Amino acid sequence: MPATTYAIALGSNVYGRHGAPERTLAAALAAVGGVLAAAPVIRSDAVGPSRRRYANTVALIASEEPPPALLARLKRIERAFGRRPGRAWGARVLDLDIVLWSQGAWRSAGLTVPHRAFRTRGFVLHPLARIAPRWRDPVTARTVRQLARAVDRPRPRS
Ligand code: AMP
Repeated sequence: MPATTYAIALGSNVYGRHGAPERTLAAALAAVGGVLAAAPVIRSDAVGPSRRRYANTVALIASEEPPPALLARLKRIERAFGRRPGRAWGARVLDLDIVLWSQGAWRSAGLTVPHRAFRTRGFVLHPLARIAPRWRDPVTARTVRQLARAVDRPRPRS
């Protein structure tokens, strides 16, 4: 196993230069690199006023970068995929979040790991439970499987 592993959440809800959201996610995984495992893509109801449907997945990534360096790289990839900053709930070609880090918790300006919202997000926890069910949240000491059981499974969309 690599020394340092991250769980990364990926989401997309509009066509980008790679095509449909699922294709964007596959291309984004290739751009991030170091993929150890990727969950099946799920489509789920959007959160917030956007009526679009999201395609989401979660991947385990091998990376020796400290969290701020990885975040900076993920933001560059988002921009390269055509993400426009400042539209929190709108159309997103690509959204990349750091969910968990094998070294535990991290906090610095503009970055909190584990991700602050992941414990309530079924579209993150259910895919993550497929690839890392026993990973323990360092803040609550609950496993991903336990956290996933506590939140609704996203309704699949065709
Ligand atoms: P959003 O566009 O909603 O994904 O929010 C992105 C912003 O949240 C980034 O600019 C980060 O500074 C901040 N952020 C805080 N914690 C995290 C995290 N664990 N993963 C990704 N972004 C984070």
